[in-house]
Amino acid sequence: MSDADSGGSSIARGGGSDEIGAAGRDGNHNDGGDARGAARARDGHSLRKSAEADPESFWARQAAEGLEWFRPFDAALEWDHPFARWFVGGTTNACYNAVDRHQQARAGKPAIIWEAEDGNQRRTISYGDLFADVQRFANVMKSLGVRGGDRITICLPMVPELAVAMLACARIGAVHTVIFSGFSAASVRERVSDSGSQVVITADGGYRRGRIIELKGTIDEALSGLDSVRHVVVLRRTWHEIAMSRPRDKFWDDLVDAAPDTCPAVPLESSHPLFILYTSGTTGRPKGVLHGTGGYLTHVHSTFGWAFGAGDDDVYFCTADVGWVTGHSYVVYGPLMHGITSVMYEGAPDHPGPSRTWQLIRDHGVTIFYTTPTLLRMLMRFDSPGKDGGRHGGPSGLDTLRLLGTVGEPINPEVWRWYHERVGQGRCPVIDTWWQTETGGMLISPLPAIEDTIPKPGSAARPVPGIEIDVLDDEGNPVPVGAKGQLVVRKPWPGMLMTLWGDDDRYREAYWKRYPGLYHPGDYARIDEDGYVWLLGRADDVLKVAGHRIGTAELEGCVVSHDAVAESAVCGIPDEVRGQSIVVFAVSRSGTPEIGHDRLASEIVKRIRSEVGSIATPGAVYVVPRLPKTRSGKIMRRLLKSLAVGGEVGDTSTLEDADVIGEIRRLLSSQKP
Ligand code: ATP
Ligand code: MG
Repeated sequence: MSDADSGGSSIARGGGSDEIGAAGRDGNHNDGGDARGAARARDGHSLRKSAEADPESFWARQAAEGLEWFRPFDAALEWDHPFARWFVGGTTNACYNAVDRHQQARAGKPAIIWEAEDGNQRRTISYGDLFADVQRFANVMKSLGVRGGDRITICLPMVPELAVAMLACARIGAVHTVIFSGFSAASVRERVSDSGSQVVITADGGYRRGRIIELKGTIDEALSGLDSVRHVVVLRRTWHEIAMSRPRDKFWDDLVDAAPDTCPAVPLESSHPLFILYTSGTTGRPKGVLHGTGGYLTHVHSTFGWAFGAGDDDVYFCTADVGWVTGHSYVVYGPLMHGITSVMYEGAPDHPGPSRTWQLIRDHGVTIFYTTPTLLRMLMRFDSPGKDGGRHGGPSGLDTLRLLGTVGEPINPEVWRWYHERVGQGRCPVIDTWWQTETGGMLISPLPAIEDTIPKPGSAARPVPGIEIDVLDDEGNPVPVGAKGQLVVRKPWPGMLMTLWGDDDRYREAYWKRYPGLYHPGDYARIDEDGYVWLLGRADDVLKVAGHRIGTAELEGCVVSHDAVAESAVCGIPDEVRGQSIVVFAVSRSGTPEIGHDRLASEIVKRIRSEVGSIATPGAVYVVPRLPKTRSGKIMRRLLKSLAVGGEVGDTSTLEDADVIGEIRRLLSSQKP
């Protein structure tokens, strides 16, 4: 354990000022000049060197320079395997770091530029506005009897009040648990009751594809009989008629109007819980991931600075819903801690048409764009020449962009190239960022703000400074360079989860049991001769055919490289002879000529045989209209696997649209392989 000497002294220097610290300053360079490029490379190099020499002191320096502390911490890490407490003895506050610290220098600067789905409504919330809003709403919470440590469920559409509610919780030490507003009543109920929330913050409704989503109705159904919930705060967004159950339900406006204007941020112990967030549920029952304050914020602050290097002229747009971890770390806390301007968009990215996303980028002069492979694959489908030879709905005029990012799933090289060439016009770096709800922030990614990385489409490049990873075989031995295996993280890092809410055993079991002493994310990977990491899909989904292991991402990338294919998912089903037989699902690309199922299937088989090898020859190829996805847009391969063997599909609570199951079932029985 290292003591945080340097931390102590720089806290004294920086305390209370609005300096954003070395990590943030390193990132403030948009001109790309040679001298600055060289300086940046030097900074990146020295950052890596100091991280390698002593990761704990390195993170202590990041914490001290990047965050504001009310009381300096005494030690970087207290490690009681597998439970970490970061920056022990220090007190800080997430809301203070995101909002208060900017009041001297940036009160008038837009923090959030919000746009409604219909495009007719826009709001600009400055850092000063945000300061006023979070204080009043924190007072609302206090008036409802909320105290430090209480859990508060927030289920709101993508409106600025979502950020205000989270920050207000953080301000008084309440633990927010945000639930994606598109979830069913049953999913909401399960999460509210698991977290033991006594207050729920919601809205009358939200807009999605031009229609009103009945949010309050869903919440009422979810809470029926759940007497533990004492207060429901209802924001008026759609203003349609809703049922209010008094005295439990109260309108946001009424409460805010009656609340005092000022509410100081409470100094909280560094490992005070900041939020619970349930994982996407791609692999099964969602896990309630618990994050702390000082460690989480340090990780997010540092990685945001290294990756995006946002400066005062940047306009940042991350498409993630705040209901997912990307929304927490890189829509709310990361950009706000750096004092930058973000675009927040309320609706569907393809409504009313596929050019909606491009229009948002153009209209707001977005410079940094961070999204998911799923959205890119969807938008790419519309970027093909029409019958008249022109392109419709594809990206155009995105001249303000300087940096592109992706997260959430492996990005196929094909899609990466399209992103780079068509969206970024060949001039913007693309960063493929690998991380999880559990990791809090990025663990593997190119970091253009601190170093130049020669891109390899489909690879997330190297771990960020301070993170030590490895790829192991089943026995726990490191695999040779270039070989496939299970990804592990060797040392604790500040953004790591504290535990799974109320379930330390599941926490140990899920992440620390497979390889004792090492964090096991459950992803399959290889590291090449240049140290670049290739994420190959979920370890559980790995295909084992005749003694060979093949990652789902490898095969799917090959299938998607066919011009007529927009998306693909592969899974393995039991096979007596080969161990497993590969089943391919492919979604055809709109705009390309229909070449027929049989021909497309045989071309896919041919392509796999020539590019991956005959060992990977699929046993079946199905052309389907769409794939089953989580509400965060990830492919649920376990459902496809169950469908392919004709079995039950299990937990579908996080499935985006349950109709897809019947659709694929019908297709499977009609399209005999
Ligand atoms: P659950 O844990 O409930 O199954 P989930 O794993 O989908 O859900 P998240 O924490 O949102 O929930 O997703 C993290 C996972 O997403 C990673 O473990 C990895 O499989 C995948 N992932 C995220 N980013 C990348 C990336 N850049 N490349 C490849 N895979 C990625
Ligand atoms: Mg996961």
